[in-house]
Amino acid sequence: MINLGIKKRNNLAVLMFHGVVNESYVDRVFQETETYQISIIDFRKILKSCANKYKFIRLADVDKYISGEAEEPGVLITFDDGVASVCGEVLNVLKEFKASAVVFVTTDFIDQGIVPAIFQLEKELLTRIPTTLMVDTPKYTASYQFNNPKSIGDGLSKLWGDLFREHIPPLSLKMCDFMFDRVPWATTLSSFNVAWEPASWENLRVAVDSGILEIGAHGKSHKPWTWMTQNELDRELHESKVRLEAEFKVIVNSCAIPHGCQNELVIKTVGNSFKYTFSSQSGLVGKNTTMTNIPRYHIPSEHPNNLWSVIDYPLLGRILRKLNEVVSNNYSRLLDFFQRNMNGDKKSRN
Ligand SMILES: [Zn+2]
Repeated sequence: MINLGIKKRNNLAVLMFHGVVNESYVDRVFQETETYQISIIDFRKILKSCANKYKFIRLADVDKYISGEAEEPGVLITFDDGVASVCGEVLNVLKEFKASAVVFVTTDFIDQGIVPAIFQLEKELLTRIPTTLMVDTPKYTASYQFNNPKSIGDGLSKLWGDLFREHIPPLSLKMCDFMFDRVPWATTLSSFNVAWEPASWENLRVAVDSGILEIGAHGKSHKPWTWMTQNELDRELHESKVRLEAEFKVIVNSCAIPHGCQNELVIKTVGNSFKYTFSSQSGLVGKNTTMTNIPRYHIPSEHPNNLWSVIDYPLLGRILRKLNEVVSNNYSRLLDFFQRNMNGDKKSRN
């Protein structure tokens, strides 16, 4: 087999996580949200493999990889949103491998201090299924039918799709915006969907002060930046930066784009407030990377077992990305397919 691997000393892979859960976590039925959680065991496995091959870097080291001055391949760990789990066992795992992580914090999420209704809904639907779920907001009204437990995932998928089409920020919905069989949603649950519990300002501050976490911005409201006018976007970026700097007494010079929604205006504007902007597009960081559009590998969408080939075989990655542009298919699925066949592994990923 021809070895396409080129392991460059100045390669950097930025890994994008959201939350870490324990093995017994079951509050998920919707495939899209499922891919935003990783078990603490898998998280540790990833860090362990990284520690053997790459240098864990901090934000300030990114420059060296873009200027080509880096001397060993690097990995930057990032978490989006600011869920409570990043201040839990994650810190011990990071400490164990002498790593740190950047947490991109959505300030309203921390301020509100509760699991957003859209995620709590997922847990509620696991315990009781209405025939009709109605979303009723001043801007949007729609009904979703559920026939059996299997239809929950499809219903939620349609709901998220509709909200995006109508430009309703999913995280802005409140419990009072939902009706279960024409009755306002009153929860019967005694607990939160723990995966989406926000961290507290205090716990984040302790982790930042200890040097294990660095802080970046992720907007005030988590509303996609592509939905905003120039003025709205300016305000969103400025307000989140000022707020985070006041909370943590550090300069906040990085951000991650909520929902990965970016366009030319977004990329042009983010540079006014932040030195580093991280996207949700897959790719390695190298000499052609611009500071306002730094790619990241979404974990676990990019399956942890495949990650090493992605990082170590950038040439293969580039070829597949080119192919992807031509066929408009999903890059990571193509890569996954290619790697499985290269490795002779016919198992489908779970
Ligand atoms: Zn986010």
